[in-house]
Amino acid sequence: MFDVLKIREDFPILKRKVNGKPLIYFDNAATSQTPQIVIDTIVDYYSNYNANIHRGVHSLSQEATDAYEIARKKIQTHFNAKHAHEVILTSGTTHAINIVATGFSALLKEGDELIVSALEHHSNIVPWQMLCERTGAVLKVIPMNEEGELQLEAYDNLLSDKTKLVFVNHISNALGTINPIKEIIDKAHKVGAAVLIDGAQSCPHIKPDVQALDVDFYVVSAHKLCGPTGVGMLYGKEEWLTKLPPYQGGGEMIETVTFEKTTYAGLPHKFEAGTPNICGGIAFGAALDYMNSIGFDTIAAYEQELLSYGTQKLLEIEGLKIYGTSANKTSVISFNIDGIHPYDIGTIVDKLGVAVRTGHHCAQPIMDYYKIPGTVRASFSFYNTKEEIDIFVEAVKKAKTMLS
Ligand code: PMP
Repeated sequence: MFDVLKIREDFPILKRKVNGKPLIYFDNAATSQTPQIVIDTIVDYYSNYNANIHRGVHSLSQEATDAYEIARKKIQTHFNAKHAHEVILTSGTTHAINIVATGFSALLKEGDELIVSALEHHSNIVPWQMLCERTGAVLKVIPMNEEGELQLEAYDNLLSDKTKLVFVNHISNALGTINPIKEIIDKAHKVGAAVLIDGAQSCPHIKPDVQALDVDFYVVSAHKLCGPTGVGMLYGKEEWLTKLPPYQGGGEMIETVTFEKTTYAGLPHKFEAGTPNICGGIAFGAALDYMNSIGFDTIAAYEQELLSYGTQKLLEIEGLKIYGTSANKTSVISFNIDGIHPYDIGTIVDKLGVAVRTGHHCAQPIMDYYKIPGTVRASFSFYNTKEEIDIFVEAVKKAKTMLS
């Protein structure tokens, strides 16, 4: 039985007040909160075995190296990668995408085509535009519809033997739409293109199996799934990671260095130049343990309950419009109220203790599609409750009255 009140005990921050009111944290799509067990892992690392890894003969360095490599194995197991060396620890999703986008400079020529979707976060647009500028490759866009879903017939027409790479998010951060990534991957592979899936928003809700998906690259940030900021994963198939050149040069990523020639280390070290976020990597592993101890199916089922409850309650407010109405979506509600700026709603509900996101959510093309400056975004996690949604809805009603 899922006991949300018991789960809430794991999160010390949920006990605090904001502006004199109990915190209601509905900005989970931006970053999740951190359970005590992950906080303890971080404190334990700095209290007991903080040392640089992979090169020390002393015991502390060995302990830190072992813990870091155990975390890599946990990440491998969680995402079902075939090899631990296919898991590159990065500073997050953005870093992971940039490793791939920069590496492809060496593999593309003028006129090659790349396909992105209309539903992307800027992190999965800008690095590829920079790649196009470097190589003369051309960026094509899978359009979206009013419900916030991708138009897959249009995708079929964009694919050709010129297509080299397709990059799409698993779940949209601005609307919550869950994209049909298996179909997108299979169709891309039919024309010989590689696929990168941005899993920043899916990783807190879904446990993806990268081998079953047959995806070439899958990227996530640990801070979206109860881990710390500044650490994430680039999963890449061994054949692709071998083909791509290193992203940064420095210590840790070399085999031998002379002034005449340097040879690079094998995977995963080739992509991990410099001292990594050691503590972050270990805490990433602890966060996965924590979430798996609850279970992703349990988490997703409960969050779907919150989504339907919140949607129904918010739609009772006259003049409120929800953006992103796909039947296939996660616990994100993006909305506006007629004639009121989202920022004003966000500011008033904050005074009442509720944290929501307002603005374009780093997805300006989606806002352009709807011809709006932004939305109010409430994103629920498994530690939120229906009672919190009730308080939030009352806060939105109050904001509406004050601003009308
Ligand atoms: N892609 C998506 C879909 C996201 O939601 C985010 C985070 N908002 C990112 C990429 C970027 O993640 P990070 O800032 O952790 O690199």
